[in-house]
This record gives sequence, C-alpha cells and structure tokens, in this order.
Amino acid sequence: MSAWGVLGRTALIQQCDPRFLAALTRWNNGPLPDQTRTLGPDWVRWIMKNCRLGEGDMYGLPPDLTPEQQALFWKLGEVRDDGRMRFSTLILSLGKGGGKTPAGGWLGALSLRGPRVVCHGCEQCRGGWLPNGRPHGVRRTSPDVINMASSYDQADMILDEARVTFDLGPLAEFARTQKGLVELKGERGKMRRIPATPKKADGSKATDLLVDEVHEFDTELRERAYNVASGGTAKREDGLVALLSTAGSNLNTLWGRVVARAKRGECGDDELVVIMEAEPGLDPTRDDDVIEGIRQANPLAARGVADVRKLLKKFREMPLPQAIRYYWNRWVASDESWLPTGAWDACKVKEGEAWTFDPSLPTWIGADMALKRDSAAVITVQRRPDGRLQASAKIWFPDGGLIDQDECDDYLYALNALYDPEWIAADEAWWPTLSKLEAGTMDDPDPARRRPPLPIFRMPQQGRNMIIAYSMTYRVIVDAVLVHDGAPDFSDQIASAVPQSSDGGWRLRKGKAHRRIDSAPALAGAIFATSLAPRERPKPAPRSRVY
Ligand SMILES: [Zn+2]
Repeated sequence: MSAWGVLGRTALIQQCDPRFLAALTRWNNGPLPDQTRTLGPDWVRWIMKNCRLGEGDMYGLPPDLTPEQQALFWKLGEVRDDGRMRFSTLILSLGKGGGKTPAGGWLGALSLRGPRVVCHGCEQCRGGWLPNGRPHGVRRTSPDVINMASSYDQADMILDEARVTFDLGPLAEFARTQKGLVELKGERGKMRRIPATPKKADGSKATDLLVDEVHEFDTELRERAYNVASGGTAKREDGLVALLSTAGSNLNTLWGRVVARAKRGECGDDELVVIMEAEPGLDPTRDDDVIEGIRQANPLAARGVADVRKLLKKFREMPLPQAIRYYWNRWVASDESWLPTGAWDACKVKEGEAWTFDPSLPTWIGADMALKRDSAAVITVQRRPDGRLQASAKIWFPDGGLIDQDECDDYLYALNALYDPEWIAADEAWWPTLSKLEAGTMDDPDPARRRPPLPIFRMPQQGRNMIIAYSMTYRVIVDAVLVHDGAPDFSDQIASAVPQSSDGGWRLRKGKAHRRIDSAPALAGAIFATSLAPRERPKPAPRSRVY
C-alpha cells in the first residue's frame, strides 16, 4: 500500500521537507502552481501505477513517490496559460543516492507513454482544458527520449531504470526493450542512450534530453555534443532538457557555468532549478556532521527512505574532496589530492621500529608494467604479526625510452621463490610476457631457464575490481593500517596520483603534472589481493607413498 498516495497542493506544502520546498520554489521557480496549472498530479498517479523500480531491494515494485518527489513533478508539470509546458530545462542537483536516476527513468517513461503534455483540444476538453478547469494531459506525438552521459555505462543507468518499467510493469505489452533501447510497438516512439560525442548527437531531435552526471562533461568534445543534442530538443514542442548531476570541481565547465548562473538567480522563466547541498560550517571529521550534511543534500536520506548509515560509510571510503562533492553535493576547489594531508606520512615506519620482510609472513604482490614512457612498479605487501600491512616498492624508470621487461620478470620470479606469495595482482595491458609468467617455463629444454608458474591474479585497470581496490587502499592508508619505508620514489608516486570519478566510484590517474604513478595501481592491486581467498596450493605428497 502507498504510504502517501497522490497528494494535493495543500498536503504537499504541509508534508514536504521545508528545505526541499524552499529549494523547489526559490529563484525564478516561483510557488507550487495551482492544480489548474499543472500536470503534476496526473504524472504522479501515472508513475505510481505504471512505473517499476530498477536495481535495489525494491526491484520490480511500483514506486511510492515521497512528498518531495511528488512536489518536484508537481512543479515540473507546470503549464502556461496557453497550454504549453512552462519549463524547457530542469537543473536538478542532489547528493549521490538522492534519487536522480529513478526520477530520470520515470520522466523518460512518462514522455514515452504517459500524459506528458497538454492536449491541443478534443471532445473531452476545450482547447486543452477539462470542464473541471484542469489541463488535459495526453501522450506526446512521436516521443524521442535521449539519455546522454559521458559513457554508455552512465547513460545506461537512467535507461535501465526505465527499461524495468517496460519489462515488468503493466506497460510491458506496449514496448520492446533491449540493452540501450526502449521502443514502442506499432507506433513511433523510443528511448535510447548515446555517449557524449557530437557525431552521435548530430541529427537528433529529441523531445526529452536527459543528461546524467553532467559534471563529467569536462571536455570541449562533450560540451559540443551536449550543445548539438540540446539544440535539437529546442526544435520540438514542449521539449525538455534535464540536467542531473552532483556537484563538480571545475566551474569552467558546462555544469560549472550552469550552476554558477543558477546560483546568481539568472536562470530564465522556463528553467527549473533545484539544488540541494550541505550548508557551510559542517565538520567532515565528525560522523554527526557528515550525516547532517548528507540529509541536507539528499531528500531521500532526509525522509529516511535512503539509509543514511550506508551513505556515511561510503562517505568515509572516499577521498574527502570527492566525498564532499558526491554526498554533500558541495563544489570543491580541486580534486588534486586523493589523501588527507599527512595521511601517507603517518604510515611511515617509526624510528627504531622493526622493518623486515619475513618469508614466513603471508605475502601479496601487485605489479604495474610500463608504457614506453612510463615507469614500472612492483609492490610487495605482507601482513605483520600486529595485523598491519607493510608495503615496499621496486620501481623501474625508463632507460633510453624502454623498460627492460626481462629484468622486471626476473624480479617477480625472485620474489616468488623467496616469499611464495598468495597472489600477484597484475594488469595484462602493456605486459607482453604475462601469459608466459602465468604458465611457467618448466618445459624449457635449458634447465637453467625453467621457471614455475606464477600465481597471477588478473586485475585490469578499467575493471570493476580496481574501483574496490582503490577504496580499500584509501582506507588502509587513512586508518594507518599500512606501513611503508618512506622511500622517496614510492611516496612521490602515491602523492602524484589524483582521483577521478568513474562509473559508480573513483580511480586514480596521473595529475596535471603528469608525474608517474605506477606504484598506485600496483599497491591497490596488492591490497585488493589480500582480500582474496588463499589460492589452492599443491599438497606435498606424503612421504610413505611409494609409486
Ligand atoms: Zn483534450
């Protein structure tokens, strides 16, 4: 059963979180319209009846829109006196987990098959107005909904949300769905996703352009793609561009300029701006403050629908500037540091403290091989008797433009012989000999060149595990579970890495100074490997057994 039902205007004003209501009606947005000037209640009723929830614990269930979500649609559904939709742009910025993706999915589904626009006049209405004075909501003609994002994966998120509606809901019979596409049966109308390239955007005349994580549109190419696609939407009647994103770090980007203009109150009468962010003065080192900031930035957390404890945990697993951006939805000056000041130095082995790598300790290794102009790094990690992880680095710098692959490989064989590591985490990219190391060379005719197979765990840089690996590495450093020897080349590479948001998380990459960072992925690989189950080792044959 629905907890709230479809709320009227008075009930919305009474039940909405006051902070959200204030954000929804500030600047040029104006007050919640009267029911004779919005399709909002029709939209909310339609969504609750027809839409189905995507990924998560509520998968496949009809959504129960919170008062805040209902108020957003009530406002977005505002109709002008001439029967056209008031808003041609939605600028919606909420903290991560605040419900942007479901909202985008519902909006897309609504445009495809719901009462999205006002009738031009039929036997039920007079010029779009029903006898009760309300607008007559009807379906769009030939809807074309585009989801655009910096990557296919990101663009798929809203589309996947809408696909569930057309796979499982009462509308399933009206549409065909496949990865990246929902298409109406027997009539024109589709929802699709495109990456942000001008070529893909060219020629599109979308009725609705839904752009997800706009803060990632930080290149001229992506911005041009956006301009092309939004230009197409302007040609459609009641066209809508929805910009959905958390805060960014660079004001000199598409999203930066949009938000700066919005906050100066310069948005036009046809632009709906809703920005929820944590207020200044909160202390990110205090859990209570972090939770308060998350609630301020995230209406679902404020409402108790999103689990604020889970969000707190995620906040803690991220470099602070990113956590503030994502979960407090606040703009930060720069993403250039991924570790809190002093965190790496605090992990340096103390003067007089033992520093030995002992073959009897459990050992994991991470390796990152070279592009020609890069360095290569191998990190050895051991769990000490006190539970901490000690890490030491061996780094090669290119000599005359080339890294000596054999030298790196020999070093790994030597480590393997010495420590018998559980796993060696490695990315196959730029490592031509990796499969040979995996297979071993025990069948080499020359006994001096025979090597046993190495316990390689493949860990692609672009893989999902790498996102987890970086979060784990961040935690072990911040919590001082890591111990290192303070070697300058190791420390410099770790310090030079900068975080970059990535689908559902973040990774490390080179900073603007382009200093080498190979130790960072290698360390993350080794740390990740410590969480893997120990590999199965061949058991030594019992001595009594005779063949
Ligand atoms: Zn009508």
